[in-house]
Amino acid sequence: MSLHIPPQPEPVAVGRRRVVPLIDAAGDVLPPERLFPHLPAAELSRLLAEDGMRSPMVVTGFAILGGGKTILVDTCLGGRKQGKSGPFPGFTSRWMTTLAEAGIDPGAVDIVVNTHLHHDHVGWNTTDELEPTFPAARYLLAEKEYEHFAGGRIRHARRISECIVPVQKAGLLDLVTGVHRIDDAVRLLPAPGHTPGHLVVEISDGGRTAVIGGDLIHHPLQLSHPDISSSLCDDPGQAAVSRHRVLNDLADREGIFLATHLTRAGTVRRRGAGFTLHDSP
Ligand SMILES: [Zn+2]
Repeated sequence: MSLHIPPQPEPVAVGRRRVVPLIDAAGDVLPPERLFPHLPAAELSRLLAEDGMRSPMVVTGFAILGGGKTILVDTCLGGRKQGKSGPFPGFTSRWMTTLAEAGIDPGAVDIVVNTHLHHDHVGWNTTDELEPTFPAARYLLAEKEYEHFAGGRIRHARRISECIVPVQKAGLLDLVTGVHRIDDAVRLLPAPGHTPGHLVVEISDGGRTAVIGGDLIHHPLQLSHPDISSSLCDDPGQAAVSRHRVLNDLADREGIFLATHLTRAGTVRRRGAGFTLHDSP
């Protein structure tokens, strides 16, 4: 297993907003065999060959710029909290440098959205000293997600104590329910299944729409076969329902889809019983 930091993709324009992908890492951490262990090997090979897809997995956070606001969606892997080892031995996240190179000042971030509370989506919520990395921001996540991961027996999980509790103690955490509007162009929409409170982020401006899909999809084969959920999904059936709903809606509106673990964004079109992503606009 090895992780590296690839070149950053081009930003995506949505009306007056700009969605900037900020990749933290790429690598072979979760090969298809581990994502889809329930598929027979021969079937998995056939599905992968069908679309020629053996792309590496990436971990991406996104900035939504414009409209007088800086919004971050997911904060990737994080650093060596209090000197402890990082999430992957031998890998040092330089995501904060990637933010600086994109012109993003941590002190000027207005909103941080965590689509869900898995470790690769909350890492840079806090600094290595366990202070909120974005001290002027409101941090938003679904109340259901918080209750599931931070309210019960797993509230002492390392990622919760390191990445959520300090934000909450600083009074920066806002729990949202249902559809939540951030401003005239950006909404948070419930898309449960991967986790109970998983959110996607919709950006609509100037007659265009894009969705940052979090972990709605982990691998491109789930575009052409949207019924297939990954082994990481809490409720695979519900995850498939959410996947169909979001992708169908985008196909109707010629909308753009981006996701944490996909290497590229694209306009959603229907193909057979599934979907494809067409060239990034
Ligand atoms: Zn993830």
